[in-house]
Amino acid sequence: MATAMSVSAVTPAAAAVAGPRTMVCVPATARAPREMAEELAAAAALGADVAELRLDCLIGFAPRRDLPVILAKPRPLPALVTYRPKWEGGEYEGDDESRFEALLLAMELGAEYVDVELKVADKFMKLISGRKPDNCKLIVSSHNYESTPSSEELANLVAQIQATGADIVKIATTATEIVDVAKMFQILVHCQVPIIGLVMNDRGFISRVLCPKYGGLLTFGSLKKGKESAPAQPTAAELINLYNIRQIGPDTKVFGIIGKPVGHSKSPILHNEAFRSVGFNAVYVPFLVDDLAKFLNTYSSPDFAGFSCTIPHKEAAVRCCDEVDPIARAIGAVNTIIRRPDGKLVGYNTDYVGAISAIEDGIRASEQTDPDTSPLAGRLFVVIGAGGAGKALAYGAKEKGARVVIANRTFARAQELANLIGGPALTLADLENYHPEEGMILANTTAIGMHPNVNETPLSKQALKSYAVVFDAVYTPKETRLLREAAECGATVVSGLEMFIRQAMGQFEHFTGMPVDDYKFRAIASSLDNRNTMKPRL
Ligand code: NAP
Repeated sequence: MATAMSVSAVTPAAAAVAGPRTMVCVPATARAPREMAEELAAAAALGADVAELRLDCLIGFAPRRDLPVILAKPRPLPALVTYRPKWEGGEYEGDDESRFEALLLAMELGAEYVDVELKVADKFMKLISGRKPDNCKLIVSSHNYESTPSSEELANLVAQIQATGADIVKIATTATEIVDVAKMFQILVHCQVPIIGLVMNDRGFISRVLCPKYGGLLTFGSLKKGKESAPAQPTAAELINLYNIRQIGPDTKVFGIIGKPVGHSKSPILHNEAFRSVGFNAVYVPFLVDDLAKFLNTYSSPDFAGFSCTIPHKEAAVRCCDEVDPIARAIGAVNTIIRRPDGKLVGYNTDYVGAISAIEDGIRASEQTDPDTSPLAGRLFVVIGAGGAGKALAYGAKEKGARVVIANRTFARAQELANLIGGPALTLADLENYHPEEGMILANTTAIGMHPNVNETPLSKQALKSYAVVFDAVYTPKETRLLREAAECGATVVSGLEMFIRQAMGQFEHFTGMPVDDYKFRAIASSLDNRNTMKPRL
């Protein structure tokens, strides 16, 4: 499965040496010097290691007047001083000479790091020759806002930067697809000098979290949402608290959720916290993936040990796995992929058990039921949707003895699934007047009503009156409009959050090989609603 660009090529080397810990750097982008100094102090309070003072963000900046304020000692954090010109993505529009003088002054005032762009590095080197204080490290940087060049081109770039006499190499590129990040990981692993290597934008997000695994010197985390200095930069708090970046090293296993979009998922919060609670050396990240097969071929190292799969990749995942669990194959959707020690990818479906057990328990809690049979047995079970979740619910309900009906926007897909399950198919319009009997169960498995479209609902309140039990796979928000209206109609409602927790418990067991502690896992999950640590939408 491995390709020339495979990360499997770099992991063994990465595992061999653990370099110095990757620093978390908070960009300070305030408009006034005193505020910038305050941002540096705030970064220290967050637990960052260094603050990047972006002098180009200051309005009316006068170096001799302002730098002593910004760099005043004692300083709670080391300072990385950057004065980025417009032609390299910054805000400074003046000449290089004045800019260089400011950077030199920053060095003399004790800045621990100074950043200068590769294009003008030789000129800057001449200026500071014999004047650079020993304790100041010079970063020579290159930014590509369009793409990520090949590994060979990146290696040449590193050599070019090294040749300037830089203490630290910095390369920031842009991902057009997530596999671009693998090229940067290769460069990080093989680089012989301290290097900062990051890939910008949504599809490059993992470079910001996983760089400690590959020996990156530093990663940027914003002070708070809205203060990012580059696209898709996480906050420092997310890096430290959500992704446990201090614990990530060469041996850390990588798990994550593959989807598009994927930024709404609460899985990273849940799984990272769960891993931490049992001391499992792993990190769980969002993978914004366009092409599943290409992604799996590229990140084929044993360290990329398992994946959750969500929209729109669950069905493609069946084809991409070397082996598929019989239940997942029957459903036609894989939501969990595990890389076995022999490198083979094995697909499972934990949605099925998660959803069905949640609905069964919901019914048992509200109705008198026979403890020996499923409360779904013999009931009419209407599934809206015929995608991955729809198939899991339909298959699961059928297994429990329910009579399953499928309704879907694309009627042909409803028919296809209904034929497979052995039941009737309906259009969404048919469903509005569908009331063949009392006590029916409804399961929405479409994304209708999901954040941000919280005012949408798949079925009118009038039609909901026909159902005794309503389940919604959507779990952001926890109470969807569908569930709210169903409860108002007197139905028993079961939240998608319950399915989410239960399918995640199944994944946790596959990922870690450990039995899940139900109580502990639920305690983590119940804190999800109260945590506002989600990443920007990817
Ligand atoms: P999927 O495979 O892409 O299937 C999506 C289904 O929704 C299809 O049947 C599609 O109909 C239908 N659909 C999408 N947008 C629609 C719209 N605007 N109007 C009507 N129908 C629409 O996705 P999936 O993996 O099954 O996920 C579906 C939903 O379940 C998502 O909201 C997901 O977050 C949720 N989910 C929740 C959990 C959980 O743990 N709670 C687990 C899995 C999934 P067409 O066939 O016509 O395109």
